[in-house]
Amino acid sequence: MINRELNFEGSPPILYLIPTPIGNLSEFPPRAIEIINEMDFVACEDTRNTSSLLTHFGIKKPTISCHEHNEEEAANKIIALLHEGKKVAYMSDAGYPGISDPGERLVKRCLKEGIKATSISGPSAFLNALVASGLPTNHFHFEGFLSAKESEKIARLQQLIKNPDTLIFYEAPHRISKTLMTMVAVLGDRQACLARELTKLHEEFIRASLAELALLDEATLKGEMVLIVEGNQEKKEVDDQTIAFALKDQLEYGKRSKEAIADVSSSLGVNKNRVYDIYLKTFKNND
Ligand code: SAM
Repeated sequence: MINRELNFEGSPPILYLIPTPIGNLSEFPPRAIEIINEMDFVACEDTRNTSSLLTHFGIKKPTISCHEHNEEEAANKIIALLHEGKKVAYMSDAGYPGISDPGERLVKRCLKEGIKATSISGPSAFLNALVASGLPTNHFHFEGFLSAKESEKIARLQQLIKNPDTLIFYEAPHRISKTLMTMVAVLGDRQACLARELTKLHEEFIRASLAELALLDEATLKGEMVLIVEGNQEKKEVDDQTIAFALKDQLEYGKRSKEAIADVSSSLGVNKNRVYDIYLKTFKNND
């Protein structure tokens, strides 16, 4: 039986997931500030960073440390507080919790314990980078950090070679040139965009091919960065079954065979003779 309950109706407890600015402090969402003011506790990745962010906004709240290395243990504490009726929010150092940051395990544990979860709208570095990159935004794959180990990095990139979606990576400045070179070797040279220091004074979008980016002086690529890489642009092979299915659809729609063949050939971008052969095999053999 599926358990359905509106987030803000019925009974608490509910865990609030709060995004934080990725640079420019003016981007702390007003609703996040409102919600934090209502909380009894703020659980966070780094209590010092969060306390100074909250102080900047004139907020003082008790914090609970919940980071990558104590997430399970901290989750127990947070769950107990929520069950006691206390209000708790969780935030990481920058952007969204759970996006290359702790939070996923906490959310899973809360849901398992019958605690609801909600998130506040706000910044995440990959979205800022993607939407201004100039690369396709309709389909994308968020990868986050690749392994620092070269063999693992190569193995993962090999799995991404065929992916037609725009690829999104986080990378550290001291590794970016090497990673770009590895990408050129594994993915081939592709269009890309290196988005640095987003929302900050020295924000920069460098739109160039992977090989061109790899040749830049690493000393000029400082700060935090997101790398957006064009997906695989090779045309996908259309299989016979797809062609037969499209023909059936067109014929059932009432089109004459000649018209259906021409339309399927142009819509799927396949040779007319091939569509005709599949038409003969699939529909004429059944007569
Ligand atoms: N949770 C965050 C989010 O939602 O974007 C990501 C946290 S992850 C630990 C930190 C990485 O995000 C950085 O190494 C960098 O790749 C990217 N990042 C964070 N802030 C950024 C900024 N202002 N400009 C560019 N990249 C940024």
